[in-house]
Amino acid sequence: MAGIYLHIPYCIKKCAYCDFTSFACGGVPEAYADALISEIGLVSRAGEYPAEFDTVFFGGGTPSLLSGDQMRRMLGALNESFPIRADAERSMEVNPGTSSRENLFAYREAGINRLSIGLQSSHDALLNVIGRIHSYAQFCETLSLAREAGFANINVDVMHGLPGQTQRQYLDTLRAVCDLGVQHVSAYALTLEEHTLLWEQVECGDLTLPDEDETADMQDAGFDYLESRGYRRYEISNFAREGYECRHNLNYWENGEYLGLGVAAHSALRLKNWTRMANTGAPDEYIRLLSRGKRPVSETIRLYPADEMFECVMLGLRLVRGVDRAAFQKRFGVDMADAFPDAMEQLRRRGWTRESEGAIALNRAGLDLQNEALGFFM
Ligand code: SF4
Repeated sequence: MAGIYLHIPYCIKKCAYCDFTSFACGGVPEAYADALISEIGLVSRAGEYPAEFDTVFFGGGTPSLLSGDQMRRMLGALNESFPIRADAERSMEVNPGTSSRENLFAYREAGINRLSIGLQSSHDALLNVIGRIHSYAQFCETLSLAREAGFANINVDVMHGLPGQTQRQYLDTLRAVCDLGVQHVSAYALTLEEHTLLWEQVECGDLTLPDEDETADMQDAGFDYLESRGYRRYEISNFAREGYECRHNLNYWENGEYLGLGVAAHSALRLKNWTRMANTGAPDEYIRLLSRGKRPVSETIRLYPADEMFECVMLGLRLVRGVDRAAFQKRFGVDMADAFPDAMEQLRRRGWTRESEGAIALNRAGLDLQNEALGFFM
């Protein structure tokens, strides 16, 4: 599998917890859309990309700030420049309250076939505390318009561990999302990133987060609830109805190739070696370089096979099904258990693995303590 990621680094306003590369702006400047299309052309002409792409993902930022015309132009340029499968998954992130009926119809018509809508909580007071721009009612309206536009593969992002959030409020959110019948739920714990507004508010005592035990209990209760409603956990924080796992993210966790386009986008490609690249994180520089016909890559790292192997384990063990032993053997010429005997021994001693001939995986206890489990492979 291989995917294309396009980064749209603009949001109406910065959420209090956000440290992604995103800048406050009322829309996507035409100069940025033009620069992205130029980058698509440059990369295509350089010829350094996989033989076929299975997925396209517009992430951000807020891709739903793209106008219908900008989306049509971008998808048109991608289709002309790269070998994208006809049945590719084409996803975009949507922030409720930023997408008009007209735009949602235009995205669907242009070829987008999966939406990932950021809800986070069904409680408006919590949305307000974390600086989201929308209410729960606006989320419901966006979902209903998306369905009217023909979207039948929809993810909703929810969060736990928010300031002042109770387990009851978290389960209310999950119940609401399940009752709405979406196909996929991403259920992440809030990460308090340094130097965000929320971090400052917590540091100075204006806000309090649930403690570690409360957050872990919320997480456990949430996971059990989602599974009881027919959503199968397939990655640490991701749940799907059968057949609706996100193919784009599965490719990341399988350490497959992907091409990143746009500000701060990352790529992982098999050139001579397994190679990771990152674009500049500054929109002005990105636009300036592309207007001069230059690629905006600011960092290129060629990995040794041992590092590539380590990445495969770190990413693959996030999946409930774990690391595919045959694929690992084919890629590195060695079985994963033989490549990391000490780490495997530590996991077995703690009872954190599920091993079969086909795969090596962490069980629920191992997934809950994943950082510790992965530490053995370092
Ligand atoms: S919408 Fe997403 S990317 Fe934009 S500020 Fe909020 S969390 Fe960050």
